[in-house]
Amino acid sequence: MKISKKISKIGIIGYPIAHSLSPLIHQYWFEKYNVDAEYLSLEIAPDSLKSFFEDIDQYNLRGFNITIPHKVNALNYVDEIDQSAKTIGAINCITINNNKSLLGANYDAKGFMDSLISNYSENIFNKKPVIVIGAGGASRAILYSLINYGIKEIRLSNRTYEKSKILKKYFGNVIKIIPWDEKENSLNDCGLFINTTSQGMIGKDPLDMDISGLPREAIVIDLIYNPIDTDLIKRASLRGNKTLNGLPMLVYQAVPAWEAWFGIKPDVTKELLDLLEKALQ
Ligand code: NAP
Repeated sequence: MKISKKISKIGIIGYPIAHSLSPLIHQYWFEKYNVDAEYLSLEIAPDSLKSFFEDIDQYNLRGFNITIPHKVNALNYVDEIDQSAKTIGAINCITINNNKSLLGANYDAKGFMDSLISNYSENIFNKKPVIVIGAGGASRAILYSLINYGIKEIRLSNRTYEKSKILKKYFGNVIKIIPWDEKENSLNDCGLFINTTSQGMIGKDPLDMDISGLPREAIVIDLIYNPIDTDLIKRASLRGNKTLNGLPMLVYQAVPAWEAWFGIKPDVTKELLDLLEKALQ
């Protein structure tokens, strides 16, 4: 059965939005699952966010994703939020119910853990300490995900110490703060190394951190997907660590959005990941 176009508009809001990979992900699934829907990429400047929500009915959306810089401010315009959004303090997805109420959710945490577990056996990392570099918005989602999963020790290091303190206060004693200039000394028994900073993104300097103290069995994860192979990922693979870039997380966070919007759980296929990788080249 085809889902009618009239009731099936989804999309994304952000600023800027031109380089988003989301349209490619959703178009791929529209074709694969025979969903006759339309995808809208809406560039909404921060000072237009309020009027966007005031006029939302005109778009006839079933739901949409939210990206930088609106993930926190959009909380002000939804009627309800799920538990992950409450804990993380940001939303990346809205579902519009039949009565037009807006339900906000955050699927970044789920997307992260699903991408990790689908790529690597849980036995590799599940009892070992994890080191998380960075304490911004993405870090919050990662900490929530790791704690929910049952990780017992998370070492958190951020350039601005105060931000790590806020997260420790929020998430509790599972977080051990590592001062920025001591982070290289905290790697020797870690099972996961996760870069949540923006260092390494296209146009930015690489993450300036020596990882030679990390066990070779540890998995090195960079949330960045542009470029696909950051300097960190390249260095980690060269010394024999298993690695994961941010592209699978981006795709996996879209899976629960589809479940909410269409009642379909789409597959994350190699074909889709290859398509996105190609688009980034
Ligand atoms: P954010 O809230 O702006 O946080 C940025 C983080 O980077 C902060 O911890 C900041 O430290 C750190 N940082 C910035 N410049 C630095 C420098 N020169 N040296 C050391 N640390 C520096 O950004 P975000 O939303 O968390 O996003 C972070 C990254 O995650 C981005 O690359 C984003 O693309 C990626 N991400 C990926 C996905 C995915 O699906 N794969 C999802 C979400 C985010 P200070 O606190 O000291 O400023």
